[in-house]
Amino acid sequence: MKDALVIGGGIAGIQASLDLADMGIQVHLVERLPTIGGRMAQLDKTFPTNDCSTCILSPKMNDCARHSNITLHTYADVTALEGLAGGFRAAVLKHPRYVDESRCTGCGECVLKCPTRVADDFNMGLQERKAIYLYFPQAIPQVMTIDPDHCIYLQRGKCRVCVKTCQAEAIDFEQTEQRIELDVGAVVVATGYDFFDPRGLTQFGYEQCANVITALEYERLLSASGPTEGNLLRPSDGRPAKRIGFIQCVGSRDVRHQLFCSAVCCMHSSKQAVLAAEHDPEAESYIFYTDFRASGKGFREYVARAERDYSVHYVRSRVARIAQGENDNPIIHYEDVETSRPARMTVDLAVLATSLIPRPETAELARVLGIEVDSYGFVKTNPLAPVDTTRPGIFAAGCCRGPFDIPDSVVQGSAAAARAARFVE
Ligand SMILES: Cc1cc2nc3c(=O)[nH]c(=O)nc-3n(C[C@H](O)[C@H](O)[C@H](O)COP(=O)(O)OP(=O)(O)OC[C@H]3O[C@@H](n4cnc5c(N)ncnc54)[C@H](O)[C@@H]3O)c2cc1C
Repeated sequence: MKDALVIGGGIAGIQASLDLADMGIQVHLVERLPTIGGRMAQLDKTFPTNDCSTCILSPKMNDCARHSNITLHTYADVTALEGLAGGFRAAVLKHPRYVDESRCTGCGECVLKCPTRVADDFNMGLQERKAIYLYFPQAIPQVMTIDPDHCIYLQRGKCRVCVKTCQAEAIDFEQTEQRIELDVGAVVVATGYDFFDPRGLTQFGYEQCANVITALEYERLLSASGPTEGNLLRPSDGRPAKRIGFIQCVGSRDVRHQLFCSAVCCMHSSKQAVLAAEHDPEAESYIFYTDFRASGKGFREYVARAERDYSVHYVRSRVARIAQGENDNPIIHYEDVETSRPARMTVDLAVLATSLIPRPETAELARVLGIEVDSYGFVKTNPLAPVDTTRPGIFAAGCCRGPFDIPDSVVQGSAAAARAARFVE
């Protein structure tokens, strides 16, 4: 049997890897970040069951790490692919962590002593991390990474506090990029999505109003491992957010930006509003929506429960702008579509459901792999073979194909694994 290559270690890539590995196929899972897990690791709970996201993701991440048929290549990129279906040769570039993975115990002593603080990407910049860091507490592998752009020693040749602190002698500033060649029969692309940047839409006040945040920032506020330890506090003054406005379709279904529907926002905003009430029974939420798209199994019932039991109000509307009011309260100006009248509402916190867009690097990866992207920039697949890309032997799963929820991404991971398996026997 030949090996298989999976690119992207989010839930879609994890599922594809586990399925291939369970068929007895050797899998190389290449992930760009220092850990697998993808966006799901950043979520607090998941609709429609309100399961704790990390609690259902972590066992799968651990299964990946422990599976004898899976080799993880984290902090790495695929830089070339040659050959044909059934006989590809891939080049992988592993970036230096400056930490020896085989020695690091993940104890975190180096993190405590590191003097440099930088914005923490995992927490969407809402708190800081150190220049040596673990991407998130449940990261796999549980090893530290040194951020070369902010490490004082790598930038200025002085410091080495981490070297002095590390009892395991794991710090290795001599590490360099490592090129690995892999012979694989098939490839699964599962590189996920990015977000529309709301700074381009100044009418929504994202940078102007301290209490206007994005939906993923809100997920981090809800999360017990996040910057507010799960307390729903306003960024401007740390006061509890009691009245919250959720703005749908920010950048989606808009001829000036993304024409497509982002598929998950109606449901993730409903979930976020329900969770606000679970955190604080006095919290009231208003969802400003275009038209409601909740087509999955159990979704309508979830929305009905949100309205009935959790003080969630759905306002069919078009939001024109969000202005900063007194006490940093966002004022939402909107057209009420039911009455065709302009209206406004003052809230404690406004949450923007920004559209899910293709990663900007997808075009470059597609060029490397010799596959096509669609007119939006997502990986192009065949409508009658939905996980097949335009090149035989290369398959795609999850949000690199377009916006999907977690169950759909998992189904596609399994589908891509099943299709890929035919090329490795
Ligand atoms: C605010 C918000 C809340 C949500 N809540 C829910 C919910 O409650 N329930 C639900 O079902 N869905 C929810 N979703 C949707 C969910 O996030 C996605 O369905 C899921 O993350 C898709 O998984 P994926 O593996 O396709 O992509 P991702 O999670 O994006 O993972 C892709 C992985 O690929 C890696 N990668 C990218 N480029 C490369 C490269 N070139 N080489 C190697 N690796 C690469 C990335 O670093 C990442 O680890 C929510 C989305 C948002 C925005």
